[in-house]
Amino acid sequence: MTSDAYIETWTPARTLLCLAVKARRSEGDHATLRRLHGELGNDAAAALAVAHRAEPIVAHGLSEAGIEGAPWDGWHEASRARIGRMMSLLDEIAARAAALGIPVVALKNGAIARALHPCPACVPMGDLDLLVPRGDFVRMHEVLNAMGFAVVTGGARADGVDAGLAEGGTDYALSADGMTYAIDLQWRAVSGRWLRADQEPSAEELIGRSRPMPGTAARVLAPVDNLVQVALHTAKHSYCRAPGFRLHLDVDRVVHGTTIDWSGVLEVVHRLGVGTAVFLSLSVPRGLFDTPIPDWVLKDLAPAPARQALLYRWLRSVSVFEPDRPKFSRASQLLFHLALADAPDSVWRTFFPPATEMRDRHGVSGGRGSLMLGYGRRIADVVLRYQH
Ligand SMILES: [Zn+2]
Repeated sequence: MTSDAYIETWTPARTLLCLAVKARRSEGDHATLRRLHGELGNDAAAALAVAHRAEPIVAHGLSEAGIEGAPWDGWHEASRARIGRMMSLLDEIAARAAALGIPVVALKNGAIARALHPCPACVPMGDLDLLVPRGDFVRMHEVLNAMGFAVVTGGARADGVDAGLAEGGTDYALSADGMTYAIDLQWRAVSGRWLRADQEPSAEELIGRSRPMPGTAARVLAPVDNLVQVALHTAKHSYCRAPGFRLHLDVDRVVHGTTIDWSGVLEVVHRLGVGTAVFLSLSVPRGLFDTPIPDWVLKDLAPAPARQALLYRWLRSVSVFEPDRPKFSRASQLLFHLALADAPDSVWRTFFPPATEMRDRHGVSGGRGSLMLGYGRRIADVVLRYQH
């Protein structure tokens, strides 16, 4: 390993999983997949795919290595039908919007499935995330209503079009052929909680830079915007919370599916003040899938070594694998996200002294749990002190 990309302990199962799902595989990878599948057995491999919510993706990787049959073929076929239907809906929504002069950008998996990844069946998604200009939000609401979509109330999102217009987006759902298709209509690309509002790129700006996709009126973000978008999305899920593991494929696929101007990425990331968060978003797929992210990019974004080591250790303790196993508690998730915030090192060190210093100077002993408590107390101390 030449870079210090993120890794966890490799097991035969994890190796099989990562090789089977990554965007590009060599002949050598296929041979390794066949060997590992033989060693683990078909049932264990299937359980592994289920545990990582990656059934059709593992199926596709194994099929390229010559392993087919149940349950793989059925999984891939079911996903092909579902994602195919979602792509038809995307095309229809975008066409109806285009007729009204409204540009629609498919974010994240919508664009990855429609244009960036060669197999749409391998891009499972819960909903379609669509970005439109704020000024067109109400007309888009009418377009979706006319297609039979209804506003989903009671969820995390705004309760209707007026609230959505105020807050950033509204969720819609359509039931057809026994399936539910969900749309997340947004006029803000990234949840504002994540970014300093004054630096958040406006939807108009992002849409202005977006590109057409072949065969559809829907558009895709410009490559740099798209990469930053999916990177912030994995960060928002703390790199491990459901759907967890498979989220790291977004960066792998965007990097393989587009030509990335890495200097442009660094410029945007620094301007948004999200260097550390994006560092982890890139470092994890580099470590898991060998995604071609240049060393100089990781080096530029990497936080100070002690802080990087702490974040790596922290993330390993919850693991980016097995998304349905317990991850962060609410409190440690908050701390983890605090630790991702870009701030001058001096500020950061005030909140998170190195573990050795916590043990020596602040009398914290014991394992990770007490260290976390120590950090919590430390933050409370600092905040109180600053308030007085
Ligand atoms: Zn596939």
